[in-house]
Amino acid sequence: MNLKEQIEREYGGMCECGKEHGVILEDIRIGSHILEEIPDLVRKHGSSAFLVSDRNTYKAAGKEVARILEKAGMLGGSWCFPQDKLEPDEKAAGSLLMHFDNSCDYIVVVGSGTLNDLGKLASAVTGRPFMIVGTAPSMDGFASATSSVIRDGLKISLSTTAPVAFVADTSIMKDAPARLLQAGIGDMFAKYISICEWRISHVINDEYYCPKVAGLVRNALKRCADNAGALMQRDEEAVAAVTEGLVYAGLAMAMAGVSRPASGMEHYFSHVWDMRGEEFKTPADYHGIQCGIATGTCIRIYDRIRQLTPDYQTAASYVEAFSWEAWKQELKDFLGKSADAMIALEEKEQKYNPATHKARFERIADHWQEILSIIEEEVPSAEEYDRLMKEIGLQESFEDLGHSVAETRKTFYATKDIRDKYIGSRLLWDLGMLEKVGEEIFA
Ligand SMILES: [Zn+2]
Ligand SMILES: [Zn+2]
Repeated sequence: MNLKEQIEREYGGMCECGKEHGVILEDIRIGSHILEEIPDLVRKHGSSAFLVSDRNTYKAAGKEVARILEKAGMLGGSWCFPQDKLEPDEKAAGSLLMHFDNSCDYIVVVGSGTLNDLGKLASAVTGRPFMIVGTAPSMDGFASATSSVIRDGLKISLSTTAPVAFVADTSIMKDAPARLLQAGIGDMFAKYISICEWRISHVINDEYYCPKVAGLVRNALKRCADNAGALMQRDEEAVAAVTEGLVYAGLAMAMAGVSRPASGMEHYFSHVWDMRGEEFKTPADYHGIQCGIATGTCIRIYDRIRQLTPDYQTAASYVEAFSWEAWKQELKDFLGKSADAMIALEEKEQKYNPATHKARFERIADHWQEILSIIEEEVPSAEEYDRLMKEIGLQESFEDLGHSVAETRKTFYATKDIRDKYIGSRLLWDLGMLEKVGEEIFA
């Protein structure tokens, strides 16, 4: 079945939020033993497919996809990355393009994560449409038109191409490494915080918000949480629920035109760990693992926020004492080169300007009860989240990932500077309570 039609029926067309929501992929197929559908999907746009994989994904599904395409007379060429740890950098992108067979009119990427990012880039550069054949439900980037890459040693997002089709064979995905299954559901759990912060920013900043898109992600998240235990038993239904959730999250971002439905403060913990990993060679793990663990930390931060009452004197004297120069230096020391973009962002955004702060503070104080209700509605309790993490066997702390308490405290402070997005750490800055809460949570 093509999920696209189902989503379009429910969520497509003109919406109460003022946007018209479309589904960017033509075909979304999730099911058991469905690789045989691939030639028909390729035929919609081409006749000769170039197959991209790495050694692991070739073994998992690439070999079978190659056989099926070959049998249909549609395998035009292929490239299998030999690296054990593939990075989405110039070297990998270059080797893919150098091995590309120009007579092929379609690209089939077998794999998730980095292979996805490289496939999108190759599709954008060569102008060939492409399909993703998932091998692990490990992240929500399937349905997007951006690639997360490392350019000149910096992790950046490039605007590339969205796939025309996504094929997920659950009989293959269920055998993905356990760590990737945990990463996929971890990236879904992050949505507890993302949706909460999207609504909070709507209240404080009048930011665009679509209840329908938020609902789509919330429902998908619920199915993932309900299937958490079965996922690690490699139950195909549970694998399908998580895969579907990740695809929906990607589509939701495209439908809303912003990343709000799928990423918030928890993602910025992960981004900071990635940036520092690039710059200082500190440890980094899978995106979804980092997001899942950071979500637990964010839940504790929101628990603390729930106990606060906005106090203008506290906030005003905090903002008064805030030093731009000290802030800039701290950011540079902590993040290295990546800090430059954030400093430039602040020059444009002026979030630390006392004048813009005053207006925001008043809004926060006036709507405090509403903000508390949003947190209550969207964010599970720490106990409930710990139970979910136990079910998926992911009980590590950020310290187990190799980040000290002091480093994670600084990471928390830096989350507010990553993007032009209003999140929990900014709310705490506005309340004049950022360091106070930081020192309590990361004691
Ligand atoms: Zn809408
Ligand atoms: Zn994510």
